[in-house]
Amino acid sequence: MKLTLIQAVSLSLAAVTASYAVADVPVGIVIHGGAGTIERSQMSNEQQKHYEATLAEAVNKGYELLAAGGSSLDAVTLAVTVLENSPLFNAGKGAVYTWDETHELDAAIMTGHDRNAGAVASVTTVKNPILLARAVMEKSDHVMLTGKGAEQFALAQQLEQVDNRYFNTEFRYEALKRAKQAQQPLPHQAAIVPDPNWKMGTVGAVAIDSKGNLAAATSTGGMTAKRWGRVGDVPVLGAGNFADNTSCAVSGTGHGEYFIRYNVASDICARVKYQGKNAALAAKEVIAELLQAGGTGGVIVVDAQGELSWAFNTPGMYRAKRDQAGTVIEIFADESEKAGN
Ligand code: ASP
Repeated sequence: MKLTLIQAVSLSLAAVTASYAVADVPVGIVIHGGAGTIERSQMSNEQQKHYEATLAEAVNKGYELLAAGGSSLDAVTLAVTVLENSPLFNAGKGAVYTWDETHELDAAIMTGHDRNAGAVASVTTVKNPILLARAVMEKSDHVMLTGKGAEQFALAQQLEQVDNRYFNTEFRYEALKRAKQAQQPLPHQAAIVPDPNWKMGTVGAVAIDSKGNLAAATSTGGMTAKRWGRVGDVPVLGAGNFADNTSCAVSGTGHGEYFIRYNVASDICARVKYQGKNAALAAKEVIAELLQAGGTGGVIVVDAQGELSWAFNTPGMYRAKRDQAGTVIEIFADESEKAGN
């Protein structure tokens, strides 16, 4: 088909207008650093400041990247990398210990415009598992890689690898000792101690960029004293991590077995997509139902309109969000109640 000059100009003008319409979306990011029994009475002012400063660094770095026109994929990758590198959280440095006194890390990343995804499970030597999950998404034909194979792929991708002891922290080792004292399972028992204090600190981020694209990233050391190659919800797409531009992006933290069984992240987005529900309300519903079933934890959410929210059924969740309305950094449950979140 031959176009006249005027037709061609008006077509390209329409394209520009359309791309402005799509691009006219306020950017935003929400992050979490785990949910659990986080009580004000058990945290010193100094500890609280330390957590808040690290949450601020992660959320601000992610937001600044978005504000400069960067993608939601890059923003969630950056925010999660900051949290993985901090010993405060159960992801990367600071990951919890397995029963055998090692660390096995899980991570997942997903983009909402094409529902592309990458996940890794039980990796032991990759410094930033979220970078490996992203490489799986972008540089392999697969969605999920595990264990030794995932590490071979990391080597081929020239991702930074460390000795497993790099992930050690005294605080998490004490938690392992307490978990072992509290429960000495017989060899045939698969039970994992569900005390939220012992696994707290999974990290995650969800974001919307100026093109309206959503992304979600989550990274964890899993649950203290896990054994037998236990894998939690994080790398199971739709359980602990999910993104779809037609509904929302979600990153979760909590008792992973429940998140897998209840498909928490994709259930929230399904309620938005098929029931026309507001994402914040859908998240509240699913997290309330999770508690009824016996599962503790929380989620962070961003919907296709850029509304940022969170929901959790524990006394606290390390969390922060930033959009054009400003920055919010909170730890304890009562702060959200006061702010009406
Ligand atoms: N969801 C993680 C897992 O079960 C743990 C956590 O979020 O604290 O592996």
